[in-house]
Parts: sequence; structure tokens; C-alpha cells
Amino acid sequence: MSILFTHKEFDNHQQVVFCSDEDTGLRAIIAIHNTRLGPSLGGCRMFPYASEEDALTDVLRLSRGMTYKSAITGLPLGGGKSVIIGNPRRDKHSALLLKMAEFIDGLGGAYIVAEDSGTTQQDMSVIRQSTRFVAGVSGDPSPFTARGVYQGIKAAVKHRFDRKDLEGIKVAVQGVGNVGYHLAMLLHEAGASLWVTDIFDQPLVRAADELNATVVKPDTIFDQEVDVFAPCAMGAVIDDETIKRLRVSIVAGAANNQLKNEACSVALHQRGILYAPDYVINAGGVITVWYEYTGRDQASLTDQVDKIYGTLLEIFNRAQLYNQTTNQIANHIARARLLIEPDTGEKAGSWVP
Ligand code: NAD
Repeated sequence: MSILFTHKEFDNHQQVVFCSDEDTGLRAIIAIHNTRLGPSLGGCRMFPYASEEDALTDVLRLSRGMTYKSAITGLPLGGGKSVIIGNPRRDKHSALLLKMAEFIDGLGGAYIVAEDSGTTQQDMSVIRQSTRFVAGVSGDPSPFTARGVYQGIKAAVKHRFDRKDLEGIKVAVQGVGNVGYHLAMLLHEAGASLWVTDIFDQPLVRAADELNATVVKPDTIFDQEVDVFAPCAMGAVIDDETIKRLRVSIVAGAANNQLKNEACSVALHQRGILYAPDYVINAGGVITVWYEYTGRDQASLTDQVDKIYGTLLEIFNRAQLYNQTTNQIANHIARARLLIEPDTGEKAGSWVP
């Protein structure tokens, strides 16, 4: 029986590598979805998956998402991702990371690794000892991810309320971690009113003190009567049950894979809630990592991130025009770029200083 080619998330992945090493205990999967526009770039997630099937499903979904994210953002990159099966607090050690680096190196630059949940910048520095195909070693991309999300919220407010400013716009931010807190700061500076939640108290106290935010319990964030719901914690928070509870006009936040499934984008559309596709609005992170990896001039980084505003406005306008969901439109644009754009033929190695 084939577990890969018939997998529901397979979607014509170009290459999937199962990595195993008895000495270090490494068990990992590297998924390269598509390299037509350039080498695949994506984070390495370390998580104690309940089963190998869960790990495979996760890596396939995530790497496909990276293909779409890079394509719609106009980056000369493909989509890839990797997962290490294990508890990052207990099972992670240098020898395991170095072995992972060897597997990545063996792919000759078809996959460039970066940090993700369960891995850190320091881990990437360890990985760099055994491969040059690693990005995200020198800086935290979160402020730029937040900036992109802020631009996306502005585009959604423009489309929905025909307003260019955010003065008095009410935003509920779920998760005030690295991205969520930066986003809340930008929104506060722009005159928006904030409702925030988190599972930890410390960032909430800070948000209340410094940003005049109203703190709510994690479970009640979906019930706030505000203009924008910004998910900045974890994935799959938008499902049948939460969609019914939302009392907002816009969903626009940083989290990856916000929708439990594709049907949720239809349900949001039917409820008249404008949804900013996650892989479009949170692309500030991959843009930053790509700038660092290729040694590009940082001066144009903010300009590139700010283009998320125009991309989303186009998606919202087309979705209205064709009465389709914003996800359908975003997917169409990304697929068209994949088909139309010439094969760059760029090799990851050619970018390494
Ligand atoms: P983070 O871990 O720094 O922040 C997440 C915050 O959410 C934490 O403060 C955590 O306590 C909180 N949280 C967790 N579960 C919660 C719950 N049930 N209710 C409320 N709060 C909860 O992570 P981050 O780097 O800020 O990333 C946030 C999201 O954005 C993630 O989904 C990530 O995949 C996505 N993302 C991040 C980047 C980036 O540059 N960091 C780029 C693209 C996408």
C-alpha cells in the first residue's frame, strides 16, 4: 500500500525524504513541494507528533503552503518544509541537529532550512556547521511579519469600510507573542483600540499597561464585538463553531493554517466576514529570511513587505467581483504565477556568499 502518493495532502510533491539515524535518535521528514520558481525554503518544526502519519500530514500541508506563499509574494523561491519528530525541550541536542543538517546538505540546495516552532535561531547556527543551506541565523523576522499583517489589516479596512486610517478601529488579537505584540504596538500607534488574550499573563500585563489594551480570557476572544479578529497564536482556530461566534467584519492575523479546513473560507464568505488568506498576510517572515539569506539590501525590505497591502487589496477586489472566497482567488493567483513565471533556474548555492 502506498502511504505517500495517495496521501490526501500529497498534491504532487516533488520529493519527500524520510531521515533516520539510530545514533542520534533523529527521525525527520523533509518535504519539497515545488522548486519551479526557485529552491524551496521553509522552516524546520520540531514537535512530539502522536504518530508518523501526523508528522507526514503536517509537513506536506506546510510545504505546499510555502510554495503558494512564495509564489504570491513574488519571491524566486519554491516551497518546502521539514519536521523532526520529538519533544524540543527533551530530545533536541547538537548531534541530532548536525545529523539533520547532513540530510539537508545532501539535497544540494533544493531545500533551505529556517527556524520554526520547536527550533530556534541558535539551532540554525548549529545546523550551519554542517550545511550552508540554512537561513534565519542572524535576526528575528517577527517584527516584519507583524508589519505585513498590519498592512493586511489596513487593506481589509480599506476594502470593507473604505477607510485609509485605523483610528478607532477595534481589533481583537489572539496571542501577544513575538508577532502579536509587535502587531498590537503598530495598531496602537495607528489609533486602533485593542482587545488581547494569551495563555501567559506577562505579555498581557504589558499590553494593558503600554498599549491600553483590554485583556480578555482566551476562550472569550471569539465573542468580542469588534471590527477585526487577528489570530496570532496557533493554527486551526477558525472552525464551524468559532465562525458562528465571531462578531467581526474581518479576520486578518499572522497564524499559519488558521482555517480548520477549506470549507471554513466558504463559511466566512457566507457570513460576510472578509478573510485575509494567512499565507498572503503573514509573508513578511519569509521575505525577511530571504533577504538575509541572499544578502540583499535591507533598505528595500520594508518596501517589499508593504506590498502585502496591494496584493491583498487585489485579492479582496477580485473576490467581490467574481463572488468567490478570498482563498480561492489567492490560490488562483499563486497557481497562475507557478505556471506563467519562467523557471528561474536559480540554485540555492548561487545565493550563498
Ligand atoms: P509566539 O510563540 O511568539 O507567540 C504565540 C503566542 O500565542 C504566545 O504568547 C502564546 O502564549 C500564545 N498562545 C498560545 N496558545 C494560545 C491560546 N490558545 N490562546 C491565546 N494565546 C495563545 O509565536 P509567533 O512567532 O508570534 O507566531 C505566531 C503565529 O504566527 C504562529 O502561528 C506562527 O506560525 C505564525 N507566523 C509567525 C511568523 C514569524 O515571523 N514569527 C511568520 C509567519 C507566521
